Order: sequence, then C-alpha cells, then structure tokens
Amino acid sequence: MQTCLITGGAGFIGSHAAERLLARGDRVIGLDNFDPFYSRGIKEGNIRSALAHPSFRLAEGDIRDAETVSRLFAEEKPDAVFHSAAKAGVRPSIADPLGYQDVNIRGTLVLLEAARKVGVRHFVFASSSSVYGESPKVPFSEDDFVDHPISPYAATKKAGELLSYTVHHLSGMPVTCLRFFTVYGPRQRPDLAIHKFTRLIDEGQPIPVFGDGSTSRDYTYIDDIVDGVVRAIDRPDGYRIINLGESTTVTLSEMIAEIERALGKKAVIDRQPLQPGDVPRTYADVEKARRLLGYEPRMPFREGIERFTAWYRKNASAAVGAGGTR
Ligand code: NAD
Repeated sequence: MQTCLITGGAGFIGSHAAERLLARGDRVIGLDNFDPFYSRGIKEGNIRSALAHPSFRLAEGDIRDAETVSRLFAEEKPDAVFHSAAKAGVRPSIADPLGYQDVNIRGTLVLLEAARKVGVRHFVFASSSSVYGESPKVPFSEDDFVDHPISPYAATKKAGELLSYTVHHLSGMPVTCLRFFTVYGPRQRPDLAIHKFTRLIDEGQPIPVFGDGSTSRDYTYIDDIVDGVVRAIDRPDGYRIINLGESTTVTLSEMIAEIERALGKKAVIDRQPLQPGDVPRTYADVEKARRLLGYEPRMPFREGIERFTAWYRKNASAAVGAGGTR
C-alpha cells in the first residue's frame, strides 16, 4: 500500500483519481481549498464516496500556504503526489492573470519544494494541451515547440512544467508532467462546454457557440485519463512530459450534434465570435504514453457523451446549482 497525496482532490479529475487509487488499496490524502470557481456543494458531492472510505483523508487547505503544505507532507510522508489543484479555466485566466499565476505557478513551486524535502518518490503534475497554443502541426507531440501559449492559463501550465524540471534536476525527484486533452465524463466541471451545453440544451436555452463550429478538440473520457494518471504514478522515471488524450478529434458542431442526439433535444444556437485565448484545435499524439505507460484510450466519443448525459440526468439538480457559465 502506498500513500498518494492528491492536490485538488475534491475536483473533477482529482476525485476520480482518488476513487481509483482507493479501490486498489492505496491510502489517499485529498488536499483542496474548495476554491469558489464552482460550488463547494458540487465538490463535496465529488468526494462523497471517497470520504466514506477508511483510507481517505480530506485535508482542507491552500497549496499556496507553505506552512500548511509542509506540515501535511511531514505528517503523511506521501510516496507519490498527483498535483491536480489549479485555477483551471482558459477564458477566466485572461481576466485574472495574477490569480492564475499565484495558484498555478507559486502554488506548484510550494508543493514541489515540500515534496522534494520529504523525498517523495514521484511527483505527477497535471499539465494541459493548452501549452501547444495555435500550433498548426497535428497531432501534437511532446517534442513540438510550446513557447507561444496564448492564454495566461496556458502560460502557467508551461511554467509548471519548467519549474518541475528544475526541481527534478536539482534534487533528482522523479517528475512526470501529463498534458491532459479536454477531459469529460461524469462530474465534469460545470464551466466546460460539454457540461454547459448539456444543461442549456436540456433546459431549452440558447447555447453560445464561438465561431462557425469548425474548431476541434481531442476529448478524453475521464476513465481513460485516470487510467493514464495511475499508470504514470506507478512508473517514476526521471523527468518526462507525456500527452494523455483520446487521439481523435471532434468538431464543435459534431460535439453539439452528439449531445442533441443523446438528450433527444435540439440546440438553440447563439452564434458568437471566436474568443481570445481559445485554441483552434487540439489533437494528441499518444505514442509516447503507449510506449512508456502502456496507455490505451478506449472510449468512443458517442458512448462517452451517452454516459455523461445519463449522469447529468440523474444529477441535474446539482448541476443547475452550479451556475455553469464561468
Ligand atoms: P477542478 O477545478 O474540478 O479541480 C481543481 C481542484 O483544485 C478544485 O477542487 C479546486 O477547489 C482545487 N484548488 C484550486 N485552487 C486551489 C488551491 N489554491 N489550493 C488547494 N486546492 C485548490 O478542475 P479539473 O478539471 O479536475 O482539473 C484538474 C487539473 O487538470 C487542473 O490542474 C487542470 O488545469 C488540469 N487540466 C484539466 C483539463 C480538463 O479538461 N478538465 C484539461 C487539461 C488540464
């Protein structure tokens, strides 16, 4: 049995990772400050089943608080860290770049330092496909040029990768940076398009569609992401950057059509201009993940959307409470 500290443990991806690790017998510490980006009630719902597990501990605290963080590391001596806490929205980062750098850069460095000091065996950092910016070359490969992030959020993720390298270089602590490609599935963040559109279409309200619908995303189902995260946690090896995506692309129009199909309802489209900070496409090359982790994404988009909308229908009241538009 190993102890894994998951920062952002009450969030969408962190809570799913916690459940998977608990199910296989690990001890999990979830560190989360219940950032008000979306409601605390939703996050408490995310960790309901983890909280019922005897091997789970919720530590409420802020990753920027060096004292709290180093006390927690000294108490728990985690074998591994999955650092998923962040300010995670792309568009809101344009309005609040300093807030994003504070949590995503300073907070990440606080954690790296605390992990290094107690000799954590593996530090796994949740990075993002957004670091690829407007790269015209697809699929995106880990060796591609990523020096032109087009949102403060993307720049903070790139900075997190750089700081991780430096701490690895100086201390030898193994670090893996996982570049996630738009993650969806049950409990998806309410601000993300699939969740927001599902709610609006279900309620018969117009959906804001930015551009002509031809922008595209590599949407990754949560079970595939968690599979990649756990495989990565189990394989410390120097410093690595690894894409985790589905390696397929879906246009915005196709995504809306799949939600319409799954809900049996038509969308009312409110066409709007493309938004600054949004990248035109994402598409993951996952050969490195296959080779180094044995990662094999499995979820067809249609089935993933059916599973998401089925979850949404069961949990619609909680989702409405989210406001869903940030
Ligand atoms: P989320 O917002 O659901 O989870 C993040 C959690 O971090 C939240 O519970 C929040 O309360 C917590 N948090 C925020 N600031 C904190 C702080 N200062 N101290 C402690 N906890 C704090 O987001 P998510 O979608 O689960 O994303 C998880 C990670 O994956 C993030 O780092 C995000 O940037 C990255 N990522 C997500 C996606 C995606 O599509 N969801 C894609 C690429 C990368």
